[in-house]
Amino acid sequence: PKRLILILGDQLDLQSAALQDFNFETDEIIMIESVNEAQYVWSHKAKIALFLSAMRHFAKALKDLQYPLVYIKESSLSIADTLKERIQKQGTQQLVCVEPGEYRLKVAIERLSQELGIDLDMREDNHFYCTHQEFTQWVANKKELRLEYFYRLMRKTHQILVDADGNPEAGQWNFDQDNRKPYPKKGPGLIDKPLSFTHDAITKEVLDFVSKTYKDHPGSLDAFDWPVTREQALEALDYFVEYRLRNFGVYQDAMWTDTPFGWHSILSSSMNLKLLNPREVVDAVLIAWKKYSLDLATVEGFIRQILGWREFVRGMYCLDMPQMAQDNHYKHTNKLPSWYWNGKTKMACMKDAIGQTLHYGYAHHIQRLMVTGNFALLAEVLPSEVCDWYLAIYVDAIEWVELPNTAGMALFANGGRFTSKPYIASGAYIKRMSNYCNDCKYKPDVRFGENACPVTTLYWNFLIKHRNQFEASPRTRLMTANLKRISDEDQQSITIHAKKILNNLDVI
Ligand code: FAD
Ligand code: SF4
Repeated sequence: PKRLILILGDQLDLQSAALQDFNFETDEIIMIESVNEAQYVWSHKAKIALFLSAMRHFAKALKDLQYPLVYIKESSLSIADTLKERIQKQGTQQLVCVEPGEYRLKVAIERLSQELGIDLDMREDNHFYCTHQEFTQWVANKKELRLEYFYRLMRKTHQILVDADGNPEAGQWNFDQDNRKPYPKKGPGLIDKPLSFTHDAITKEVLDFVSKTYKDHPGSLDAFDWPVTREQALEALDYFVEYRLRNFGVYQDAMWTDTPFGWHSILSSSMNLKLLNPREVVDAVLIAWKKYSLDLATVEGFIRQILGWREFVRGMYCLDMPQMAQDNHYKHTNKLPSWYWNGKTKMACMKDAIGQTLHYGYAHHIQRLMVTGNFALLAEVLPSEVCDWYLAIYVDAIEWVELPNTAGMALFANGGRFTSKPYIASGAYIKRMSNYCNDCKYKPDVRFGENACPVTTLYWNFLIKHRNQFEASPRTRLMTANLKRISDEDQQSITIHAKKILNNLDVI
């Protein structure tokens, strides 16, 4: 074959830009399972299984359509080295692919084509609303890079929830204030369970293979129930808009024990593997809005996540890599506490969020941002250690979306390039948004001493430590206002207690 078409594990779409001009006479497709990909961060078993099962199902779909495909199973080489072998063996003249979602892989493929002196046709991924060029243009004349303005532009450009003159539906761009309620005191009540899928022969084989080959990797396969084909992803989307979307908005930020999914869509892995196109998701939500007369706040809140955040973080990743992976604004150096990998901590909030993460490979946004992310920032953990954990442990984790969320949003590692202030909170926030504190050894409102909530102690410690910096900026000045109500003596006790915690992070 003259042309080799590379399809990566997160590019599983028959409509892919890489297949647009496929020539059945002269082209060949290659897909590679690389052991290296599962191990360069110590990936969750469910994440590995999801990728492998979805890839093998996609390979089957290609074969059913008579595409010439070389599928390399369990290669011990990296993707680039496996490709190299194939290209050299076949005398390929051109390599075609869609731009990888991971900078590291993009660079490796570009280097390979240079090294081998072959032509590389790397095409833009058509699964995003915003092209690189549009994002760069938007950035060009901005003093501050903020989601809100980018999101408004996307709404106007794509005519979503705007009238013919470009004004927002119901006169308001953003209904976030309506979307931050905790569950009622008695608990979340009955939530329609996410859709379940039976494991076919391909998935069964993959689960068996992963449990043997990657048995030391974190997480469990017991609850593996992710869409692995486009058909299943479409079913999951239908089910979400039919049964779960209606309550998504109000309880978007709420947390409760034994409620791992809340009313969330659980569609990120399907969109990220390209089993679903985000346009299909947004369109389905707009149809359901009219059909079921859903609340605009819910519909806008959901669409903002996809048309706004998802596109925005991708733009930032492409703009700021490779620097984004190195940024460490606060110069933090602590190791990630060992219990992030096994959930063995006395803190009820962490235990629940990490426990469900290990069980399912999933936690929702507020758990990632305000529980595990918040703690990692307050505990002064080295950003790259935190980012590796997020990349390893969530089934939807691909670097273009994981890194900006972790380094940029949760850890403020890039010094607020696209967020106005660090997202930090004390135990009081977790108490307000969940029932976690009810059964915890620690007390959310105690700031130091044996019963003190570590989140609370470290929160005040962080404010004390960075007080001058926070007070120097109008964006963060208000954050330290409450410090004035804590006596100097108590502040000293907080600092001493925080030191103790920071020196023994593995045993709290
Ligand atoms: P829903 O709550 O139902 O939201 C709908 C969709 O909106 C999601 O499927 C997702 O595609 C999109 N979305 C929502 N929030 C974001 C966001 N902040 N950035 C980008 N897209 C968003 N998302 C990933 O897809 N992969 C990751 O590796 C990832 N890592 C994260 C790490 C941290 C520290 C944080 C704070 C967030 C991370 N997110 C990541 C964003 C978000 O938490 C997940 O997209 C979401 O929890 C997935 O669950 P869901 O499909 O039920 O989402
Ligand atoms: Fe988490 Fe603190 Fe509440 Fe315990 S008391 S659940 S550690 S916030």
